[in-house]
Amino acid sequence: TSASPHARPIVRVRPLTCTETRRGDRRVVHSLGDGAVHVSAARHDATFGFSAVFDADASQEAVFEGSGMRQLVEMAIDGFSCTVFAFGQTGSGKTYTLMGPLAQSETQPASPALLGLMQRSFACLLEQSQSRGSDLALSASYLEIYNEQVRDLLSPGPPCTLPLRWSKTRGFYVENQLSVGFESLEAIVSLLLQGSQRRRTSAHALNRHSSRSHALLTIHICSRAHYSPNVVLQPSACPSKQGTLCFVDLAGSERVKETGSSGELSVEANSINRSLLALGHCISLLAKPRGKWTHIPYRDSKLTRLLARSLGGSGITLMVACISPSSRCLSETLSTLHYASRARRVTTRP
Ligand code: ADP
Ligand code: MG
Repeated sequence: TSASPHARPIVRVRPLTCTETRRGDRRVVHSLGDGAVHVSAARHDATFGFSAVFDADASQEAVFEGSGMRQLVEMAIDGFSCTVFAFGQTGSGKTYTLMGPLAQSETQPASPALLGLMQRSFACLLEQSQSRGSDLALSASYLEIYNEQVRDLLSPGPPCTLPLRWSKTRGFYVENQLSVGFESLEAIVSLLLQGSQRRRTSAHALNRHSSRSHALLTIHICSRAHYSPNVVLQPSACPSKQGTLCFVDLAGSERVKETGSSGELSVEANSINRSLLALGHCISLLAKPRGKWTHIPYRDSKLTRLLARSLGGSGITLMVACISPSSRCLSETLSTLHYASRARRVTTRP
C-alpha cells in the first residue's frame, strides 16, 4: 500500500503530583472515554477528540498497548520510517512516558512495570528479531539538538557538534554520527542510559538543560534476509530494506511563548520556538489534503530536517501529547492540545 504521510496524535494525562495535591491544585482535565478529553475551567471549557486518551491512572503497559506502538515497531521492521515524539510543557510526563522514571543509577534499576515506551519497544523489536533468526541488523544513534546545534550523545568525550547535511541520495543526514550495533535488550538499554546520562550532565542545571534540548534516539533496522548472517554490513551498504524507529523527547513547549528574557536565555527560547513552531507547521501542512506542489518547509529548523523522512514520504508518526491535570497548568495544557489537534487529518469524503 502507498502509505500516506500521517501523524497520529494521542494524549496522556499524568496524575497530580504530591506537591500539586498538597497546595490544593484542582484537576481540570478529564478523559470522557472514546478519545475525548475535556478541559474544564471557569472560562475555558473545551473538549478535544483524539484517537486515544490515557488518563492519570493508565499504566505504562496500557499506554504501550493502546498507542499502536507495537504496530509501529512492526512497520519499522518492514522498512518504514517510524517516529514517536513526546511533547508538552516541562514536567508534563514526556520523559516518564518514553523512558519511565529513569533509574538513578545502574545499581538501582527502575521497576519493570514502570518502563516506558522505549524499553517496551526495544523488547518487542528484539523478540521479533530473534524469531526471524539473525536476518535483522540493529544499530542505534542518539543525538540532541540544543540551541540549533546537533550533538552526538553516544560518542565518548565531551559532546561535540556535528554538521547536518543534505544529499540527493540520503536526504538530510548528520555527518559522522556514531551508530552502535546491538543484539540484546541489555545492550540497547545501556546505550539509552549512557546517552541520557550525557544529556543530563552536559549542563550545570540538570533539568534546565534537558527541558531545553530535543533528544532523538534512532534505531536503524536493516533487513538482510537474503544474505549470510555472518556478513556484517554497514547501514550505508545495506542491500535490502532499511527501516528506522525514532524516539524524540522534545524540549518543554512552554518556551514557545514570547519571553522577555535576554542573552543566553533568549537564544535558547528562540531556538526552541523555531523548531517547535516549524514542526507544528510541517505537521499541519502534511495533515491537510494537498495538491502535488505543496511545499513542506523542513528546512526551517534542524529538528524538522532530521525528521523530514519520517514526517513525509512513507513515514508514520505517533505524537504523544503529555499534559498535567492541574488547574495551574491550564494555559499550557490548552496550547499542547491545540498543537496536537493540528495533526489531525482533515478527512474529505469523495
Ligand atoms: P517532562 O519530561 O515532560 O519534563 P517528566 O517525565 O520528568 O516530565 O515528569 C515530571 C514528574 O512527574 C516526574 O517526577 C515523573 O516521575 C512524574 N510523572 C510523569 N508522568 C507520570 C505518570 N504517568 N505517573 C506517575 N508519575 C508521573
Ligand atoms: Mg523530560
